[in-house]
Amino acid sequence: MGKITLRNVVKRFGDAEVIPPLDLDIENGEFVVFVGPSGCGKSTLLRLIAGLEDTSDGVISIDGLDATDTPPAKRGLAMVFQSYALYPHMTVRKNIAFPLKMAGLSPEAAAKKVEAAAKVLNLTAYLDRKPGQLSGGQRQRVAIGRAIVREPKAFLFDEPLSNLDAALRVNMRLEISELHQTLKTTMVYVTHDQVEAMTMADKIVVLNAGRIEQVGSPLTLYNRPANLFVAGFIGSPK
Ligand code: ADP
Ligand code: MG
Repeated sequence: MGKITLRNVVKRFGDAEVIPPLDLDIENGEFVVFVGPSGCGKSTLLRLIAGLEDTSDGVISIDGLDATDTPPAKRGLAMVFQSYALYPHMTVRKNIAFPLKMAGLSPEAAAKKVEAAAKVLNLTAYLDRKPGQLSGGQRQRVAIGRAIVREPKAFLFDEPLSNLDAALRVNMRLEISELHQTLKTTMVYVTHDQVEAMTMADKIVVLNAGRIEQVGSPLTLYNRPANLFVAGFIGSPK
């Protein structure tokens, strides 16, 4: 569960080919980071995987099944939005339970899942607060909790830490890495921050103008960058 395959995936917006034909394999349980400069297509690629954008061409498979035309809610993936996507009038408990309520789960079953997610995320003491009464890091954890309760095949993160201050970013980076070790679920994580990529990823995908410049472990990219773009972006000498 959680293997995602892209074959010849293309995305055009009007005449602009934002993603030229692209192949990518994301293995079950892997922590994959898409990194690259602003505007290179990271979010578009993630949104294609999530189903929030239609592919112009190519095939996206999830666990070996063609999911190219599957609507987002049926892909079994959970997109983690930035913490400001929480409902301000709802408690943490209700925010986390929201997707379960939408899915028609009984309140009792939902409550169990919410408690379990809160435990993993150290949010148990905050379940009856509202987002406005939480720190930025706690709010981000609630946003992650809302994804966890759905028990997705993969988590998709789009720059989840970009609106947190530097110290908190370091903390949350560790927390997300720990969460990955606990859950062992596939995670696809978008960032323009090289340090985030190097410290969190099993596999880094370096994007430049919609193309993949290199795919590899942080160590491989550092020691054997495929070209000057990767070397410059990752910060290794070449
Ligand atoms: P990144 O997340 O790496 O900053 P994006 O995926 O947001 O990059 O954008 C990649 C390119 O696609 C950019 O040139 C952007 O302007 C363009 N783009 C993204 N979304 C749209 C859209 N809905 N309509 C037209 N162009 C878009
Ligand atoms: Mg983006």
